[in-house]
Amino acid sequence: MTSRLSKAKRIIVKVGSALLVDQKTGTIKASWLSSLVDDVADLKIAGADVILVSSGAIALGRRTLGLPKGKLKLDQSQAAAAVGQIALAQAWSEALRTKNIVAAQILVTLTDTEERRRYLNARATLSTLLAQGAVPVINENDTVATSEIRYGDNDRLAARVASMMSGDVLVLLSDIDGLYSAPPNQKGATFIPELREITPEVEAMAGKPISGVGSGGMITKIEAAKIALSAGCNMVIASGHELHPLKRIAENARCTWFLAQSSAMQSRKRWIAGTLQPTGKLFVDEGAKTALLKGKSLLPAGVKRVEGTFARGDTVSIVLIDGPELARGLVGYDAAEAKQIIGLKSADVQKLLGAGDRDEMIHRDDLVMMDRK
Ligand code: GLU
Repeated sequence: MTSRLSKAKRIIVKVGSALLVDQKTGTIKASWLSSLVDDVADLKIAGADVILVSSGAIALGRRTLGLPKGKLKLDQSQAAAAVGQIALAQAWSEALRTKNIVAAQILVTLTDTEERRRYLNARATLSTLLAQGAVPVINENDTVATSEIRYGDNDRLAARVASMMSGDVLVLLSDIDGLYSAPPNQKGATFIPELREITPEVEAMAGKPISGVGSGGMITKIEAAKIALSAGCNMVIASGHELHPLKRIAENARCTWFLAQSSAMQSRKRWIAGTLQPTGKLFVDEGAKTALLKGKSLLPAGVKRVEGTFARGDTVSIVLIDGPELARGLVGYDAAEAKQIIGLKSADVQKLLGAGDRDEMIHRDDLVMMDRK
């Protein structure tokens, strides 16, 4: 059997603090990191995009700052993260460099994946990094996130990233090899190798956090699975205790797979099509309709009129002049800008709004045809 991991084109790997940071010394486990980076390099050589979501800032920073053992207060963990994130980024950057891979640090807060305009910007940046062959290393921006706007755990953050980037597989590397029907040390607990749905029974199987560092646990992993599956991304929980944890998954080591029922692109398009109330309308001509039917992006040149008030990233309807709704999509410009650039060629859009703006009014990945038949 070819492994699902080897077949994936875009892989998001979440690395927990307990794997990366030695609890006794508060330092990076260098040989483990180097074995993981070997695996990342192999996946990239096989043609996959890899995005890392790495915890460890707080675990690395707390000792350096001389903070006490045990649970930290919010401001203490934020201070620890401020110190530890530098060391964390440096460790990744150096390890990846040995494989000639460029590392890119991205620190996000909840609003970056929840608020639409920021979401599109974060996604565009990540896409550019991937297109250039870099490996983004993401963590929560712990120092500025207040408790109300925190993910608090990187399991869900990684799932949001997987959903935002239309990932094929989300790998949660942790201190446990997968999901059990009951806490693994309990008698009669059985291992669950594969799931297609998060039922209440599955949720009941998720016990309390097992490791002492990091804030995850099985509960946040199940939450992450819900996010990933609804975005059409498969997820796997696997142990990171051994060296070469990704190679081991590819070679079918024991782990729990959560299998999505549709692809990332299908889910995304369903989500866009399902928007109840598009906030604006873009009226287009026959030429644009033909282009859309061929699966092309909607360019400003094909738009004749703009209606409504919307922000970049909102869902708008694409309507044929004097005709029906043709499609829906996430618009790349706000209403005021869109009105300025209708009918213009890309070069003129750049002149008007400044270089660096995108060519499409709506990118084809953000567009879904509305078949009313
Ligand atoms: N963002 C935290 C850190 O880097 C970790 C969150 C988690 O444990 O999931 O230390």
